[in-house]
Amino acid sequence: MGFSKLGLSSKLCETIASLGYHTPTPVQQQAIPYALRGQDILACAQTGTGKTAGFLLPLIEILSDSRAKARMPRAIILEPTRELALQVLENFNTYAKSYSLKAALLVGGESLTQQEKILQQGVDVLIATPGRLLDLLERGKIMLLETKYVVIDEADRMLDMGFIPDVNRLMAMLPRNRQTLLFSATLADEIKKLVDTYLVQPKKIIITPEERTAATIEQHYVAVGPRQKREAVRHLLSSFGKDTPNIIFCNRKSEISILVSSLKRHGFDVEGLHGDLTQTTRNKTLKDFKENPASTLVASDVAARGLDVDKLGLVINFDVPINAEDYVHRIGRTGRAGQTGKAFTLVTETEKDKKLWMAVEKFIQQQIPVFSIPFEKEKPFKAPGTKKPEIKKPELKAPVERKVSAEIKESVEPKSPVSPSQKMPHKYVRKERFPSYEHPENVVGFGEFAPAFILKKVSQKHFSLEKD
Ligand code: AMP
Repeated sequence: MGFSKLGLSSKLCETIASLGYHTPTPVQQQAIPYALRGQDILACAQTGTGKTAGFLLPLIEILSDSRAKARMPRAIILEPTRELALQVLENFNTYAKSYSLKAALLVGGESLTQQEKILQQGVDVLIATPGRLLDLLERGKIMLLETKYVVIDEADRMLDMGFIPDVNRLMAMLPRNRQTLLFSATLADEIKKLVDTYLVQPKKIIITPEERTAATIEQHYVAVGPRQKREAVRHLLSSFGKDTPNIIFCNRKSEISILVSSLKRHGFDVEGLHGDLTQTTRNKTLKDFKENPASTLVASDVAARGLDVDKLGLVINFDVPINAEDYVHRIGRTGRAGQTGKAFTLVTETEKDKKLWMAVEKFIQQQIPVFSIPFEKEKPFKAPGTKKPEIKKPELKAPVERKVSAEIKESVEPKSPVSPSQKMPHKYVRKERFPSYEHPENVVGFGEFAPAFILKKVSQKHFSLEKD
């Protein structure tokens, strides 16, 4: 089935064809016709399924017949992270390139004044994170009277990040006669509640768990000792990631900086990305990463969702993700849109890692094959009860007499006893500073290198008090 069968205009279909999309993905097939008819949609679909085009294409079609007014966006797309918001904006600009529609980003970490200025000029689509949108609404900088199309994207991630109260407040401010589309990888009770409260008889689209990880991703489990993780990463990058962009996911921000420094020391082209960096740095890092075909990004889960990098070859989970679902998002950065990719997860033998990994396999309903790395140092796991190998102390040998040529010997060894001043051309040399003073011997405890103030002759008048 082609895109034209879904009810999209030939103009939009031409753009889609120019991007190389020939067949709509299942979520697009199901969502686009209903969205075009103005129906609410609840879609259980994760990133990598083509869901972004699933809501953007009908949105472009719906908005194409009228113009935006100042401070009155006609559509709002809520995203949990700034990175995702930026990516949706990029997708929008690509899909809507033949239309005079304007989209803007409203995310934390960017200049408020600049964002207010753009709003004043009038935007059709506002792609926002909930906090910043609420902030501007409360300052009266945005009016929602014209907002008739609302997308809550990655609702489960919003829940994880504690944004659901903000989403509730926002939804309560929106006009009643609107169309709402909600996308979520899972349907926790809080999400169901959101659906029941704000969506009207939604069309339900469910992508089954078997489709959770794309078949185009080769997944591997790598058993490592706690101190073998960096060696494993180097091995995997050198073996499989030399010519592709790659991502390494860590659970802790502190780990990211350490790993970046370590990999740089080993000559890898890497950069770090996490939520504590300024937005400008995050944007620049992502831009550089997307433009550099053989670099590696060491990232936290801010990069796990939605990040779309062409031909990303390798995903390495430096740590097993805390949320099993994040595993799907992390590895979903590769093997996108029919391309192939590899994903490796480093798992230590700790109880914590074992539990987390079990949760991952349960969630994806797959058993992931083991990949072995020929480690240089210790074996991955020490069998319980194994004794530490005894370290033999080296035997002390008598010093070896070195053969030195007569010429060198002469230049190194003094012919006759020398005074400290001759041996040490030093600022503390007493002869220079106290030429009148000649000390017969070295000062006890200082060898030949006694500082000058110790060697200074004390004048008799300094003893006058003692004499009294
Ligand atoms: P998403 O799930 O929205 O993040 O999309 C995943 C990737 O699939 C993106 O790189 C899209 O450009 C690509 N994509 C979306 N729809 C299609 C399609 N119908 N055919 C081929 N690629 C697509």
